Amino acid sequence: MGSLDGAVITGFICRLCSKLSRLVIHIYGEQGVTLQLDKKINTYLPISVKFSDPLPKTVCVACVQKLEIHHQLVKRFHAAREHFMESAMNSIRNRSSTSTSCDQSLRCRNSNLNPTSNSSGAEQVTHEYSQADL
Ligand SMILES: [Zn+2]
Repeated sequence: MGSLDGAVITGFICRLCSKLSRLVIHIYGEQGVTLQLDKKINTYLPISVKFSDPLPKTVCVACVQKLEIHHQLVKRFHAAREHFMESAMNSIRNRSSTSTSCDQSLRCRNSNLNPTSNSSGAEQVTHEYSQADL
């Protein structure tokens, strides 16, 4: 029963820090799947885990906690970035609605979106509509 002993010992080795631990979470077990351990390891760490690889599939609680802290930190960074992007968009909207003429950046963007003059574009649309009516 050497293989069974090996499996028990492998079950207590942390995949991330390689320390032996009594408290481990199986990456593909119920709790590991709920915590999305494989996704977090593959996303945040310079290693990758696969269900089919021959390496240990357990992670010690200390490493899981560190991974969760990192995940919360990354989530906070994303939320902050979205907040700043929203603030920037709101300030652009407020600036364009309060001022009568658009600023230089908006003019540049408008000219990029529509390289032809507005009058010829409008004529083309009108022409297409008249063809569809016939
Ligand atoms: Zn560990």
